[in-house]
Amino acid sequence: MCVESVPPPSSRLTRRGVLAGAAALAGTAAALSVAPSAVAAQPRTPGSTAAHSGDLVVEGGTLLDPETGHVTEDAVVVIRSGTVRAAGPRDRVEIPDGVPVLDAHGSWVLPGLVDAHIHLNTAAEALDAVRQGATSARSGSTNFYQDIAVRELARQAPALAPRLRTAGIFVTPDLGDTILADPDLTPLARSKDGVRSAEALRRVVEVNIARGADVIKTRVNERAGLPEQDPLAQVYSYEQLSEVVAAARRGGKGVLCHSYSERGCDDAVRAGVRSLEHGVFVGERTLHDMRRRGTAFTPTLSAIAGLVDSSNPVLAERGRAYLPVLKEAVRTAHRMGILVVAGTDSSGGKVKPIGREVELMHAAGLTTLDAIRTATTRAARLLGLEETVGRLDRGFAGDVIVVDGDPLADVSVLKRPQHVVRAGLVVQGASAS
Ligand SMILES: [Zn+2]
Repeated sequence: MCVESVPPPSSRLTRRGVLAGAAALAGTAAALSVAPSAVAAQPRTPGSTAAHSGDLVVEGGTLLDPETGHVTEDAVVVIRSGTVRAAGPRDRVEIPDGVPVLDAHGSWVLPGLVDAHIHLNTAAEALDAVRQGATSARSGSTNFYQDIAVRELARQAPALAPRLRTAGIFVTPDLGDTILADPDLTPLARSKDGVRSAEALRRVVEVNIARGADVIKTRVNERAGLPEQDPLAQVYSYEQLSEVVAAARRGGKGVLCHSYSERGCDDAVRAGVRSLEHGVFVGERTLHDMRRRGTAFTPTLSAIAGLVDSSNPVLAERGRAYLPVLKEAVRTAHRMGILVVAGTDSSGGKVKPIGREVELMHAAGLTTLDAIRTATTRAARLLGLEETVGRLDRGFAGDVIVVDGDPLADVSVLKRPQHVVRAGLVVQGASAS
């Protein structure tokens, strides 16, 4: 096949057209037109007319700092224009006049959580993720760049979507209908063997970057969630993965790699991916290599646990066999000091609470504080957001969850946030109770 004869994917016009299509599919333009409905009426205080959008005081709760594990009772968090101005004990924080107050007495206050592997195809899914406490996220790819549209929605109306690192479209041998998403991909339709040659792999990576992807998503194995596929079968070789990583690096991007088999995990890590996704059968030698290289691990325990409940007997058996193996891998990786990060792998219109993944991290053997870190400070590091996400301190994002119990005693409270605040805006419908 030959894609070299086609002009490189740099046309501004193409980019605009493709992203407009993505926005239409994701429904983000429509969501923006009704934006205020997702933001709860801000709590009122006398004189609050002086407050700006994104100004909020969260007052009276017990504040947990995931970085230090420090707990502050009767804490005050002051958010101005979407950013934390101050956070700490009441006697050390000045409460500004005229700013709306969210009463958190009797509750615990934490930074908004991060879902480091989620497929956000629509504005509705994005809002659902925020309501369940994921105020930041990393996309695991979408079929038609919808995640890039969702990222723009988050910039314009932060209460509607998590701040998002986008993957654009999946770098996979068979692009299917995705090939229709972009005129710069259609030449690949002529190829008999799909996206396998070095130039085809490079092309998909480069088109993604040209459309605004922040990260590149690829795979080494088949899928676990489809009964007819063998997740231990390999779809890309070490050499092919190396092409993907090299093309991504030329664009300054990291790669996340869907992987299951021991050999597949090892090939992906040696090829230089930034993070291993799922990684059920990752071997000890590969884990040592990950520690040495700083490769992160996103086990998506929720996805594997979800297979157990499948009505399909093949998938249910796969889930039962895989889950204990994956938990052991998580425990070992964490003990070795590998960056273990929370991600739900939610897709297909059903968003799982990121708090469930934290709960499974704890069930795998991490302390409650370390489990909380996988969805806060550690996930922020993987996303390159460690200066602004994962803590509530001066200069950090004004993203907050309020929960009705002590998460250090029982992490399951994270599955049902009472309130979610995104960039200083109280998100409506966050409470499940
Ligand atoms: Zn995924």
